[in-house]
Amino acid sequence: MTLRGITKRYGAATVLDGVSLDIRPGEFLTLVGPSGCGKSTLLRTIAGFEPQDEGEVAIGGRVVDALPPAARDVAMVFQSYALYPHMTVAGNIATPLEMRRLSLAERLPLLRLLSPRRPRIRREIMAEVEVVARQLDILKLLDRKPAQLSGGQRQRVALGRAMVRDPAAFLMDEPLSNLDARLRVQMRTELAELHQRLGATFVYVTHDQVEAMTMSDRVALMEAGRVLQLGTPAQLYDTPASIAVARFIGSPP
Ligand code: ATP
Ligand code: MG
Repeated sequence: MTLRGITKRYGAATVLDGVSLDIRPGEFLTLVGPSGCGKSTLLRTIAGFEPQDEGEVAIGGRVVDALPPAARDVAMVFQSYALYPHMTVAGNIATPLEMRRLSLAERLPLLRLLSPRRPRIRREIMAEVEVVARQLDILKLLDRKPAQLSGGQRQRVALGRAMVRDPAAFLMDEPLSNLDARLRVQMRTELAELHQRLGATFVYVTHDQVEAMTMSDRVALMEAGRVLQLGTPAQLYDTPASIAVARFIGSPP
C-alpha cells in the first residue's frame, strides 16, 4: 500500500500535510503520535471514508482514489466497535457478506421468500461466519446482541466483521483502548497472533507506546499531520530523528 503526498484540510486547518508512506504487504505498521495529529484521518482516507484534497492512495499496486470504501480491499476496525445494536453477533459479522452476495431485494425481509437462491446463500454466509467466530472464540455468542457482550467480546465481533471480508489490509483505530488493562494485554497477544495467521497487512493506530513498540514491524511517528520518522521499534528507540521522537518513544536523553 502506497500513500503519496496525502494532504487533507478541514477549512483553514491542514490536518494531513503531505503524508507519504510505503506500507509493505503483510507488515504490522503502527501509527503513533499525540492526540489530534491526524492518525484517524489518515486511516479514514485510506479506507475511502474521507477523500483527500491532494495525493494518491494505492492498494495492491492499484490507485483506489476513485473507488468507494467497499471496493478497496481494506477493512476498518473502529475504537467504538460500531456494531449494529439491533442485530445479533451473527448478523453483525454477516453484514459485509450479505452486502456482497445478496441483492438489495434479497436483503429486504418482505422479499426474501421470493428469492429461490436466498436460502442457499444464507447457509453459505453462516458457514463463513462460523469459521471466523471459531477463530475468535465467540462461537457461543452468535445469538447475543452487542448490549449483552463484554468490551473484549464486542472487540472480537468487530474484528470478525472485518475478517469475513478477507481484506488485503486491516485498518485498526485504537481497537484496544476501551478495554481494561488486563484484557488489553491479552488482546495485544491475540492481535499479534491473528496478524501472523492471516498474513494480511495491519495498519494500526494507538497512542500507547508499549503497544507500538512491542507489536509492530515498523512504527510511523506522526505529529501535526506529518510523519516525523518511520522505522522499526529499535530504530526509533536507538536513533530517534528528533527530540520530539525521543520524547514520545521514551528513549534515554
Ligand atoms: P486522537 O489520538 O485524539 O484520536 P488523531 O490523531 O486520530 O487524534 P484526528 O481525529 O485524525 O486525530 O484529527 C486530526 C485533526 O483534524 C484534529 O485537529 C481534529 O480536530 C481535526 N478533525 C478531525 N475530523 C474533523 C472534521 N470532520 N472536521 C473538522 N476537523 C476535524
Ligand atoms: Mg483518533
